[in-house]
Amino acid sequence: MPKAELHLHLEGTISPETLWKMAQKNHVSLPVSTLKELRALYEFESFDKFVSLWQAMCRCFKSEFDYAEMVEGFAKDCRRQNIRYAELHFTPFNHEKFAIGGKRALKIVTKKLEALEKEGGPIVRLITDIPAEAGEKAGEYTARLLEEEKNPLIVAIGLGGPEAGFSRKKFTPYFERARKAGYFCVAHAGETAGFSHVREAIIDLKAVRIQHGVRAAESQQTLRLLKERNICCDVALTSNLCLKVVKKLSDHPLKKLLAAKIPVTLNTDDPPFFNTDLVQEYTLAHQKIGLNLRELWEINLNGLRYALCEVAVRRRLMLEFEKKAPAAQTN
Ligand SMILES: [Zn+2]
Repeated sequence: MPKAELHLHLEGTISPETLWKMAQKNHVSLPVSTLKELRALYEFESFDKFVSLWQAMCRCFKSEFDYAEMVEGFAKDCRRQNIRYAELHFTPFNHEKFAIGGKRALKIVTKKLEALEKEGGPIVRLITDIPAEAGEKAGEYTARLLEEEKNPLIVAIGLGGPEAGFSRKKFTPYFERARKAGYFCVAHAGETAGFSHVREAIIDLKAVRIQHGVRAAESQQTLRLLKERNICCDVALTSNLCLKVVKKLSDHPLKKLLAAKIPVTLNTDDPPFFNTDLVQEYTLAHQKIGLNLRELWEINLNGLRYALCEVAVRRRLMLEFEKKAPAAQTN
């Protein structure tokens, strides 16, 4: 079926093959000596191992070509899985330390994504994240960038990076500025920290969607808040499993969110790093959580209903989806 995905990070889509190519070209040493070893390094074992791989990857961004390669790899994966629409998190602040800087990186990524849309897709909109661990400096940088940008693809400000120990509410002034500049607000909350972060994201940051949000299931009051405000949670099952939010998928709170009538979407977050893709996430939701095809199709449509793109784009995609997935609709 044609699919929409609302929660994945561009830097988190780099496959071992693309990373290997970038490292070779730029003469960057990786903590492994063969592509086979690099593939093994991608097997998620602990958050520390994940961070060391992430840092090695960051050292590979040297030129415009590397950013174009990253987008090309992402687009190829979308086409393989028939992902027609995606909202992609990108964090320019983190790229300030690399060779071409955050703003130029954003420009290259945008140019490449615009060209892809013209060539038939996927259609992609961007969410510009503040990395929570970098605090006020990153908040200021991101708010200012959004105020100054005339980027046609950015639809929202986001809050990414590690969640536990980093209050959501602290970022309120930057979210306020982005909202005044015309952007939507979304935020990571309720994955590695509890439901209070979901509340802060909704009440203080005025988030219209929550990335993850699954720990809201621990609080009836928070579930009610999500339902009343019609806020969609962009759930990532395998990411939750790898980061030990749940011990096994059959314990996952997705069903609780659905029972509370909260709209959800299914997502990959950082697909190769968690050794998953969107097809696998749908398969897991069916096999391990017991959702039927009708429920999965509704979840897929949520990816358009709660998308932050222009209405005309959303409507066009909805008509396209309806036409192309009759079997899933009737089952
Ligand atoms: Zn995420």
